[in-house]
Amino acid sequence: MPIVVQKYGGTSLADAEKIKRVAKSVMKEVEKGNSVVTVVSAMGHTTDYLIKMAHELTMTPDSREMDMLLSTGEGISIAMLAMALKSMGQDAISFNAMQVGIMTEKTHSNARIVKIHTEKIKKQLEKGRVVVVAGFQGITEDNEITTLGRGGSDTSAVAIAGALNAIRCDIYTDVEGVYTTDPRIVPKAEKLEKISYEEILELARLGANVLHPRAVETALQYNVPLRVRSTFKTDDLGTLIIGVNDMEIYKPVTGVAADTSQVRVVICDVQDKPGTAGKLFSLLADNNLSVDMIIQSYARSSNNTNDIAFTIDTGDLAKFESLKETILENLTASNIYIDENIAKVSIVGAGMIDRPGIAASMFKTLTNENINIKMISTSEIKISCLVNKEDAKKAVQALCKTFELECDTIAEVKGTLPD
Ligand code: ASP
Ligand code: MG
Repeated sequence: MPIVVQKYGGTSLADAEKIKRVAKSVMKEVEKGNSVVTVVSAMGHTTDYLIKMAHELTMTPDSREMDMLLSTGEGISIAMLAMALKSMGQDAISFNAMQVGIMTEKTHSNARIVKIHTEKIKKQLEKGRVVVVAGFQGITEDNEITTLGRGGSDTSAVAIAGALNAIRCDIYTDVEGVYTTDPRIVPKAEKLEKISYEEILELARLGANVLHPRAVETALQYNVPLRVRSTFKTDDLGTLIIGVNDMEIYKPVTGVAADTSQVRVVICDVQDKPGTAGKLFSLLADNNLSVDMIIQSYARSSNNTNDIAFTIDTGDLAKFESLKETILENLTASNIYIDENIAKVSIVGAGMIDRPGIAASMFKTLTNENINIKMISTSEIKISCLVNKEDAKKAVQALCKTFELECDTIAEVKGTLPD
């Protein structure tokens, strides 16, 4: 029988009523003649609550113990859903990551999956059971519990789908699919019928908060067709995510995203000589600091120095601050500026490849809104501009107009407005 992997997020499993609704949705897929593996996140805001509990003890909890704690959230969901299914007449069995053998690297809090053993799942599917698997968690070779990073259940589901050669992986959530932008910023944002892995990967990395970026990378790697769809409207097919070559591209831009969770760092007056950038970024990498947009300026001939600017996650700022002195000394830089008032606004679209004038339209749109651009970076299918935080919303709204990313209806909006 063809295998379908489904994933349900925390909001879809927030209470007993919702779990019953999920069970019905699982059974609907079984009725279609498919073998179903259901991957679940922790109920409601359980993970946030567990983190808060740990922080009441210490602000720097031990990472192994933190994984032990957080993995319990998904442990509750699997048992609850399997119970619900059985009580409704559908045979089911729950497994945690250790029982399945979801093998990860030996890193806590942000581990990558390296292998998934499928025998146990397959055996249960052959018995006609729905297999309910805990998302977000993994296990190392020496039986240590790991987690995959916040939102990691998406990645668990896609990786399981890849390992089982599933025909599809459906990510059920509380929104109806992937939108051209955040409907909380642009109420008439359009729901996309299809989007390519490449585009959604950029959007996910740019803070669009649709899917865990590693889930999309995994889907691309194993060529798993992915759907993002609503738990509450199971007849709606949501958004299909497929390879860029299977897309018909009409518009140059598919989506707009704004990320307000970065800060800009400028290292001033570093020597313009071989090895400078290597030294700086090796130091950051050795300290596990990820860097995003990087710009090195033109060398000023008078003193043969230039400036290097880049962005990092706000959450890494404290770590960066602790390296400031070392950087100043090692690079004989004159100063380090940190700018917290930034938002990264990006347009993404496979259709911008080989189409001139898209960057110009973006910059013109921002000019018309009197928005200053602080930094620019581009890739084949993306253009990002750093702007002041307070301009982010206005920028997204204007860009959606310019690139025709709105429809006539107002999207159903969940959640609160981002900063
Ligand atoms: N429960 C985890 C979290 O809240 C994993 C997930 O929801 O995907 O981040
Ligand atoms: Mg999630």
